[in-house]
Parts: sequence; C-alpha cells; structure tokens
Amino acid sequence: MIFAVGFVAFFIGLMIYNARHRGRRQCRWRAYRQGEGSTRWTCVHCGARVEGEAGKPPTVCLRDHS
Ligand SMILES: [Zn+2]
Repeated sequence: MIFAVGFVAFFIGLMIYNARHRGRRQCRWRAYRQGEGSTRWTCVHCGARVEGEAGKPPTVCLRDHS
C-alpha cells in the first residue's frame, strides 16, 4: 500500500517536472566568448550548445529538438 502511494507521488512529481520544464524552459545559459562578437552559449541544464550574440542567450532549450 505504501508503495502504491509512493509510486503515484513519484509520477505526479514527474509530470509536474515535465510540464514546468517544457513550459518555462528553465535552461541556464552560460556564455563562452570565442572572439569578436561571437559567443558560444552552453546550457548548463541540458548541455545544449549554440552560437550567438553576446548578451543574448537563447530562450529555448535546444535539447528538445535534437
Ligand atoms: Zn537546456
């Protein structure tokens, strides 16, 4: 019985986590300068990498599209 409760609680937590992760895109972008005007953004959360402008981190998690 206690296992069933824990099992349900686990899945509810997983669903909440997925919904929150998909909705808000809680990626943490860290900038690595490569040269003049070019910056490589690395998502600390999921490890996605993308090149872009300095000071403008991506707003979406690119890991989902791979
Ligand atoms: Zn990410």
